Amino acid sequence: MKRRKLLMIPGPIEFEPSVLQAMAVPTPSHVAPDFIACFGNCLEMMKKVWQCPSGQPFIMAGTGTLAMDMAGSNLIEAGDSALVISTGYFGERYAELLRRYGAEVTLLKAPVGQVVSLEQVEQTLKKKSYKLMTFTHVDTSTAVLVDPRPLGELGRKYGVLTILDGVCSVAGEEIRQEEWGIDVVLTASQKAIGVPPGLALLVVSPRAMQAWKERKTHVGNYYSDWNNWLPIMQAYANGTPSYFGTPAVNLVIALEVSLRLILEQGIEARFEHNRLVGKAFRSAMQALSLKMIPCYPGQEANTLSAPLFPDWVDGNAFMKAMSQTDVIVAGGLLPELKGKYFRVGHMGSVTRADLLATIAAIEWALKQAGHHFAPGIGLQAAMNILD
Ligand code: PMP
Repeated sequence: MKRRKLLMIPGPIEFEPSVLQAMAVPTPSHVAPDFIACFGNCLEMMKKVWQCPSGQPFIMAGTGTLAMDMAGSNLIEAGDSALVISTGYFGERYAELLRRYGAEVTLLKAPVGQVVSLEQVEQTLKKKSYKLMTFTHVDTSTAVLVDPRPLGELGRKYGVLTILDGVCSVAGEEIRQEEWGIDVVLTASQKAIGVPPGLALLVVSPRAMQAWKERKTHVGNYYSDWNNWLPIMQAYANGTPSYFGTPAVNLVIALEVSLRLILEQGIEARFEHNRLVGKAFRSAMQALSLKMIPCYPGQEANTLSAPLFPDWVDGNAFMKAMSQTDVIVAGGLLPELKGKYFRVGHMGSVTRADLLATIAAIEWALKQAGHHFAPGIGLQAAMNILD
């Protein structure tokens, strides 16, 4: 019986049945020949999805925060300077994380709903020498989309390593890691990659691997240390058994299925699908007179949206009404805007039917919460884009 609610939060998302079925296989040994081949395939396919043929991929049991931690702990030594460009909650997390490893962090914080200007970034880079800078492609707390291209360029110009937090963007928003010169692009399995939570995934440029090799001190995190994991990734890539920590075997099997589906669809087609879905959802919200947290066109994510409630709509009443529908959406994450907005994830293989069901449920819940509009107006606006 199909008694399941549609999960439209910004991760975990709705997963393809074939990905979920792949997880249900009897768990093989992590050194079984078939599993070694599967792991090796995942590493190869990651380079294609990230568009970084010369990068070093890592597949780790853990969450997106572990991917942030692995990049940070391997590239920072105590006393190094780091520039964190923040567009919300997860930017600030990176600042805190890097400080743990002794980094002297400069935090450039965008006003809510906006990005930090390139001029401000460049002025900051001119004033002091930085080892690395981080930025969030899509901050899941604000749905603000940052253009990584010029930041990659600035990183090259000033000799600063660049880390892109792509947890809410990889395989959803356009990323060309190698062409754009970004040193680390990291994500987690439960978002646009389309695999249940539990894998931290990153691809590292040769330049960043070299910077890591030239470290003078030990990596401050034993589990994340690339000294432990690089030989394992190389062994899997070469088809030979190895061990440091037991991989999340069933999740890696599911990852192989999902990466294959993404590449079969075509990465460009996937970006395009996401753009269309994002645009359709935003135009539905606009038709319903809901403003979005991102202030400017072109800075709105396609993987999720963050609509603000009109002043007269009580956010708690809306969320309560939503919980009576068949669709799950997420509340706001920014403490300063608590109760003032909600978030909808529409990444991965979200279908037309999923999106329309979500908009219909939002319309119903808005009505219960006292908002007035012509019924179906949001659905119509979305269909105008989708069709
Ligand atoms: N960065 C961003 C942009 C995220 O959206 C998230 C998760 N929502 C994280 C980092 C942390 O990922 P995880 O919850 O898997 O640790």
